[in-house]
Amino acid sequence: MEQNKKEQLTHRIIDLAKRLGADLVGIATKDTLKGGPPSTDLTYVLPGANSAVVFAISLDQSIIEPFIEKSDFDSFNVNNVRTNTLASGISLDLSKYLEMKGFRSVALNANIDYRKDTKGGVMDELPPISHRYLAVRSGVGFLGFSGNLLTKQFGAAVILGSLVTQAELIPTDPINPENNYCDQCKVCTASCASGYMDPKEMITVTMGGMDFSYSRRRHHWRCDYVCGGFSGLHQSKKWSTWSPARFAIPEKDEEFAEAFIKAAPAYKKRPKSDVGFYHFLMPGNVIELTCCFCQLVCHPDKEVRKKRLKMIRNSGVTIQRSDGSLASVSPDDAEKWLASLDKETRALYMEVE
Ligand code: SF4
Ligand code: SF4
Repeated sequence: MEQNKKEQLTHRIIDLAKRLGADLVGIATKDTLKGGPPSTDLTYVLPGANSAVVFAISLDQSIIEPFIEKSDFDSFNVNNVRTNTLASGISLDLSKYLEMKGFRSVALNANIDYRKDTKGGVMDELPPISHRYLAVRSGVGFLGFSGNLLTKQFGAAVILGSLVTQAELIPTDPINPENNYCDQCKVCTASCASGYMDPKEMITVTMGGMDFSYSRRRHHWRCDYVCGGFSGLHQSKKWSTWSPARFAIPEKDEEFAEAFIKAAPAYKKRPKSDVGFYHFLMPGNVIELTCCFCQLVCHPDKEVRKKRLKMIRNSGVTIQRSDGSLASVSPDDAEKWLASLDKETRALYMEVE
């Protein structure tokens, strides 16, 4: 392709992504991703791929604090599901536009699309392509200590999407590290009941000759277990996620398989709201988002981050009323509520002798 045609197509695809609903858009290419982890190999989804378009859509910022202070569960869940749907839709529309222009392209799902050819298959939850790595390399945002993609405009409260194409697009530049607002405040770590982020060890990913670092993540089952709602009581016992369950959250990664086996039957039996969605790996297939706290606390303004951590710590402990609805009460009242339940009902929320 001639340079001016590449520039024109790049400009048009970025503009189209914005018109379709993306807030921030970048372009990564096989050169800018060279040497990156397996999930940056564009040819995995499309032989002969040259470029990827990657974008971020802001979550509704007005419903973040009601969610983390545990006064509104539904709005965030609905907004999160629909923003993911929008991201997958934008990817499909962009890929069809490029296909119609004569460039083979593959749309990618925003979420819940895993490689089947790894050792553990879909249980490894390794995506075909990492939107996050593409996004940091192309300047959509920067990596925070949490490993989440942070943006100057919306913090970490964004949903990412991407598509892969044989079109030769012009890459966009990464953001200057000096503009990365992450100051390692570790509010993300403090708001995580699962211990997913290693507090000390960092890992570095190199793409196209540039290094990007973030905290080593422990086994992804930690986040699945807590954010997925199998359990949610923080070790301090003073606050919880939106999960009303308090099965033990193991210390060691290798203890999580056993923990899932113990907590899964109760998970399946517990009443669910109608704002969740279906996930093929979940018991009964229904999932609700009960946490996402590491993402939602990470606002560009440090004072807001501190305020949000305080909100989580003061948000109380979730219980589930007999009609299935969720409520947040003081830690002591949660204990009284559990003690008031018959043994069979109590077993829905904790291990019972
Ligand atoms: S919460 Fe703090 S340490 Fe964590 S990613 Fe955000 S700015 Fe970085
Ligand atoms: S979503 Fe929740 S459980 Fe998962 S890493 Fe973030 S804070 Fe931890």
